[in-house]
Amino acid sequence: MRRKVSALLSAAAVLAAVLVAAPAGNAAPATPSEWREVFSADGTISKVRIPVEPKIAPKSEDLRAAAATSVVALQETGPASTRFNMVILGDGYTAGEMGLLRRHAEQKWAEISATDPWRKYAGSINVWLVNVVSNESGVSNDPSQGISRDTALGMYFFCGGVERLLCLNESKAQAYAAQAPGVDAIVAVGNTYKYGGAGYPSLSTVSGGDPRSGRIAIHELGHSVGGLADEYFTPGTTYTGDEPTQPNVTRDPGGSKWASYLGRSTPDGGVIGAYLGGSQYEYGIYRPSSDSLMRSLDKPFNLPSLAAMDRAIGSRISGGSSGCAAQANTRSGSLTSGGGAYQPDGGSFYAAAGTHRACLAAPAGAQFALDLMTWNGSAWQTVATSGADGRLSYGGADGYYTYLVRSVTGAGSYTLTYDTP
Ligand SMILES: [Zn+2]
Repeated sequence: MRRKVSALLSAAAVLAAVLVAAPAGNAAPATPSEWREVFSADGTISKVRIPVEPKIAPKSEDLRAAAATSVVALQETGPASTRFNMVILGDGYTAGEMGLLRRHAEQKWAEISATDPWRKYAGSINVWLVNVVSNESGVSNDPSQGISRDTALGMYFFCGGVERLLCLNESKAQAYAAQAPGVDAIVAVGNTYKYGGAGYPSLSTVSGGDPRSGRIAIHELGHSVGGLADEYFTPGTTYTGDEPTQPNVTRDPGGSKWASYLGRSTPDGGVIGAYLGGSQYEYGIYRPSSDSLMRSLDKPFNLPSLAAMDRAIGSRISGGSSGCAAQANTRSGSLTSGGGAYQPDGGSFYAAAGTHRACLAAPAGAQFALDLMTWNGSAWQTVATSGADGRLSYGGADGYYTYLVRSVTGAGSYTLTYDTP
């Protein structure tokens, strides 16, 4: 069954453009404006307010053109209904430049799939290239303002007057993306060598020919796929709202939202804690690490963001022999005969109500078992134990959980994979 773009839109609400109230006054109403992220080539990110872009519904001839556009698989790993489907669009590529579009798309996917946690799932992701044909080559306002080009998605630099902001007609882009057999994320590459890109609720744009611009798409996928908040801020601002829903920001100065990671070293450097500032605000809100990908483009994701991305990508992959391999969390270790170990990492994790699934791979000749335990208020209590195949499934209430991996007979190293609700 085809996945619809609308599901993606609701998941990407974190990035929804924010309409700003017009200031009081007796002049004509101010032009409505919205936030857009701006990316600098040095990796820093900021937000600017630009006039609301006109929402132009695709005309019937645009829909016909979209329906007639060919879709090719850059990689196809399984049926769309059981895979994460990444859709890449092009704009500003003429009929004679489809080979160039393919090269640019392959370069962007290579960069995305080399970044954790995409790397882990690369073998279980379908990548669809929609061969959008434009009448003219290149994008508008490239390299400077005042240059107009007739392209299928209307891509242009200097969006809202911001040079590196690469905008397009979002609804047209969605119409083209819908030609793919499944849509879980959309990246639109423009035929330009100028650095730039932009984040929309449903997609990101990125310069096709600039090798540094792929990081923009990876950051934006953090929003649209992982539901992550930004971790940079505007100086002098204070957060006063409720506890945010995003997994990588909290009002709690103790960082209990990511308790199982506190004190651990994180791929972006330093240790996980509660660092002041995030989600655009300097005060009143905390982030898990000093400088992750949601704050600086040239950094990896921090541990809580990695886990959230992992869950989001892994949850859209199912079936076949990849059932265990596609689970979002992996821990490995070794046991002595009769020994045991708690996972993850000797600690516990908090889970919402729902289904836990886990797989335990034990060494040949040994028999290992897996217990899922929950904190009942005064003690850890076993609620499920793996079967002979090493698999466990349990539907439980929200609360704190831990896995006990134990040796029934034999010793050796094991791998535990699991999904949390
Ligand atoms: Zn962002």
